[in-house]
Amino acid sequence: MNYTVVIDPGHGGNDPGAVYNGRKEKDDTLNLALAVGNILEENGINVVYTRTSDVYETPFTKATKGNEAGADFFISIHRNSSEKPNEYNGTSTLIFDNAGIKKEMAANINAELKKVGYNDLGTDIRPNLVVLKRTKMPAILVEAGFINSDKDNALFDEEFYDTADAIAKGILKTLRKQEEYVKNTSTEQKIEAYKENTDNINSDNNMECICDREEIYRVQTGAFENQANADTMLNRLLMEDIPAFIIYENGLYKVQVGAYKKLDNAVKMERRLRRMGYNTYITT
Ligand SMILES: [Zn+2]
Repeated sequence: MNYTVVIDPGHGGNDPGAVYNGRKEKDDTLNLALAVGNILEENGINVVYTRTSDVYETPFTKATKGNEAGADFFISIHRNSSEKPNEYNGTSTLIFDNAGIKKEMAANINAELKKVGYNDLGTDIRPNLVVLKRTKMPAILVEAGFINSDKDNALFDEEFYDTADAIAKGILKTLRKQEEYVKNTSTEQKIEAYKENTDNINSDNNMECICDREEIYRVQTGAFENQANADTMLNRLLMEDIPAFIIYENGLYKVQVGAYKKLDNAVKMERRLRRMGYNTYITT
């Protein structure tokens, strides 16, 4: 599979993360991240690590590293902690918002970890975490059990390979599905899906429109001479549940999102796209 995945072991260097009976989160995350990365590499994935030794870098630097690598996904590995020892146990996955392929990847990882024996605490929405917010690609953060839970630590140590394998399986399963989708969905089908989406948007806003000639707003995310490049951007947007499409105009393949009757709605979408790292402008 032709994917680049960033694996980010949480904390490091003078930031140990959570600590329990001398056990440091930064060591667990590094060991687990390297094991997950190994399995991904064995499956043909190009893996980029934010660190492979005991060093500290800010989450912002790590997100920037991922962006510069032009990666397709960003996977941060952490361990959870709570106030009192053995208060909670289980694994969870954090994502920026409940949309797109990252939501699916989070659910797949949770399901695989449950098979290893962890209590499945599900998916959490965390819009303020830097590695989820500042990354331009879909990003997830896996909390691989509580470091202050003896039950989770026993699983982590005794089923170490299976834990790494579960996370890798969840990632690979999602990537395979995305690859299938890209391969088996024609541009026409994508445009049809877009039209259905747009009809819904339009019917919502229809009632207050009293004008004869109304302006329709769209958000443009890119313009390419090469159709394949436009198609790549289109696929990425559609996988994030963004109603995108391509138009051919003045010798350029333009990737646009929307059809909004209200400028407000176009601006909202533009903000979301900019957060995802797209250079956008609104067109009518
Ligand atoms: Zn952490």
